[in-house]
Amino acid sequence: MSKRIYLASPHMGSEELKFVQEAFETNWIAPMGPNVNFFETEMANYIGINASAALSSGTAAIHLALKSLNIKENDIVFCSTLTFSASCNPIIYQGAIPVFIDSEYESYNMCPKALEKAFIEAKEKNQIPKAVIVVNLYGQSADLDKIKEICDRYNVPIIEDAAESLGATYKGRQSGTIGEMGIYSFNGNKIITTSGGGMLVSNNEIAIQKAKFWATQSRENERHYEHLELGFNYRMSNVVAGIGRGQLKKLDERIEQKKAIYDTYKNEFKDIDEIEMMPVCDYGRPNYWLSVMTLKEGCKVEPLDIILALEKENIESRPVWKPMHLQPFYKNCKFVSIVDGNKSVAEDLFLRGICLPSDTKMSKEDMNKIIKIIKGLF
Ligand SMILES: *Cc1c(COP(=O)(O)O)cnc(C)c1O
Repeated sequence: MSKRIYLASPHMGSEELKFVQEAFETNWIAPMGPNVNFFETEMANYIGINASAALSSGTAAIHLALKSLNIKENDIVFCSTLTFSASCNPIIYQGAIPVFIDSEYESYNMCPKALEKAFIEAKEKNQIPKAVIVVNLYGQSADLDKIKEICDRYNVPIIEDAAESLGATYKGRQSGTIGEMGIYSFNGNKIITTSGGGMLVSNNEIAIQKAKFWATQSRENERHYEHLELGFNYRMSNVVAGIGRGQLKKLDERIEQKKAIYDTYKNEFKDIDEIEMMPVCDYGRPNYWLSVMTLKEGCKVEPLDIILALEKENIESRPVWKPMHLQPFYKNCKFVSIVDGNKSVAEDLFLRGICLPSDTKMSKEDMNKIIKIIKGLF
């Protein structure tokens, strides 16, 4: 069997081990330590924000963002429907109620018109949400000016789920820095990784300070263990923060490599009428985390045909995220779309979309092989 080609897998640079070694040599194996502090500062500098908290996962970061915005039992939180379940599970952790918002075709992200509709309906019922979680899918920013204008009108803060979009920009600003709070993930499949980890960022330094307090079991400043509040064990360890520091140095290079992968697919498939690559919006620059394509309505080739043809050659690909409002676990939640009829934009993208192998370690031969297999089906 030929070596497996992955959707997106960890790609180590030359400096990660040095930082990890430092942690060993200085015996900073605990959560907290110099690598954690440096990683937080280096990330904050890279994205241009005041404060950041290195955490054990992106999911933990979303959880603490919700807690920071005082989301409690029975509060309502709007969230993009087309995403990974980690975007909305923390809403349930807080006992709050998610309302899912449909996508737009332009960016696959939250549709500003659907959001506006959701707010109008919420206002009528006196059920204004306490936060809106906006996801920047597959490395491309949502149309945040439009979304923010609507949220500002209702005075509702935005949590920007930039787990997939670190390094992408929106009108010159870094994705993840535009909402009140932003989160990143360093899970193994993301554009940079710490094997597992996340970060919460904000210009509100007090909020970040408080998040760090909650993340370390809400331990009061006393000699004994004193707790006034519920705590969490959400801090990033100093060992993996060392990996993150090395990875961050490679981020710009990875974005270039991811873009080259996307451009190659786009160019190779340009003459196949039934294939459309995920659009790139002119308001920003994606990080091209995953190259995604859709097959036109009525195309004789199904996404599954492509996925299985690749799998046969030990190549990983996936359908687009299954929307949250279609997940059995979330089936009772409200969903808002501007589409009349029964198929929302998010569902349509799910049914017609494929995430192509986007691993930065792929060789030219690997890519040629993938392209040949796909072209062979048309
Ligand atoms: C990966 C991901 C997360 C969760 O990050 P973890 O670090 O795996 O907890 C959240 N939202 C989106 C959109 C993601 O892709």
